[in-house]
Amino acid sequence: AQVMPEQTFQGIHGLGRENSPSPSFKRLEGKVAIVTGGAKGIGEATVRLFARHGAKVVIADIEDTPGTVLANSLSPSVTYVHCDVSSEEDIENLINSTISRYGQLDILFNNAGVLGNQSKRKSIVDLDTDEFDRVMRVNVRGVALGMKHAARAMIPRGGGCIISTASVAGVMGGLGPHAYTASKHAIVGLTKNSACELGRYGIRVNCISPFGVATTMLVNAWRSTSYEEDGGGDGDDECMSFGAPCEQEVEKMEEFVRGLATLKGPTLRARDIAEAALYLASDESKYVSGHNLVVDGGVTISRNCVG
Ligand code: NAD
Repeated sequence: AQVMPEQTFQGIHGLGRENSPSPSFKRLEGKVAIVTGGAKGIGEATVRLFARHGAKVVIADIEDTPGTVLANSLSPSVTYVHCDVSSEEDIENLINSTISRYGQLDILFNNAGVLGNQSKRKSIVDLDTDEFDRVMRVNVRGVALGMKHAARAMIPRGGGCIISTASVAGVMGGLGPHAYTASKHAIVGLTKNSACELGRYGIRVNCISPFGVATTMLVNAWRSTSYEEDGGGDGDDECMSFGAPCEQEVEKMEEFVRGLATLKGPTLRARDIAEAALYLASDESKYVSGHNLVVDGGVTISRNCVG
């Protein structure tokens, strides 16, 4: 497993870090949740928030070191399970081990995803089919497998909640590589189809479409794109170490996103996406199903976003 710097374990530069006291009203008390891609970024922020709201949480990820350290820091209500979401065997093991440990499954957050080849300018005529398949396996097959096996566990209980992380690249074109855009549109489609079907069992299915949270995934993409624009280069070694973004890069990214948002003032953080997931996971959204909750500060309603 990859060795990560200490700061990453606590949330990258405050990303997803949760310092405030437990809320007086715990919105997920008695619930059991799985968060895929929960070791870092948006997933990590969601694990922390769900646990703070009283849920038992299972982190499912392929990055064992940060996943285990995060789980240990929030033990005993949080545990870690190694799971590659594109493997049906791993997904079945994840659901079975969650149920054998905590007795039930109420919430699945299908959040794991990969961006793939980071140059959004790469033309369709140069499509790398192996890369296309790799992104589809994680982002689409992974989400579909999560839905399949969570639904199997939830149907006999007469209810549950499935949330997936799509993207603003799942509602419009021109924002990411072809495979990523296609995969995120597919997640919105899977959400709508599964919501139609599973509603009769009391299972709600929704997705969230974030824009521009300065996580490892996005900062790495930003870094490689800027190097391409600069004509290549090794970059700042300190910033590159262990693949985690440095503070400077995070700030640059956040400033860029603030510039595109029509909503002026706040900075979008992983915690904001976790709050959207909390809403969709809790009873406050009991009549919401088949919905794609866009969390983008109004970027996609503005012509700025494709500029
Ligand atoms: P991140 O790289 O910080 O976290 C992604 C996590 O997913 C990592 O812990 C990684 O190990 C895990 N993962 C990757 N492949 C996996 C696999 N096969 N099985 C299990 N786990 C796997 O990135 P993030 O930004 O937090 O991304 C989380 C989700 O949010 C992704 O689906 C991403 O596409 C989506 N998203 C992010 C943004 C953004 O601005 N950061 C915007 C839109 C959508």
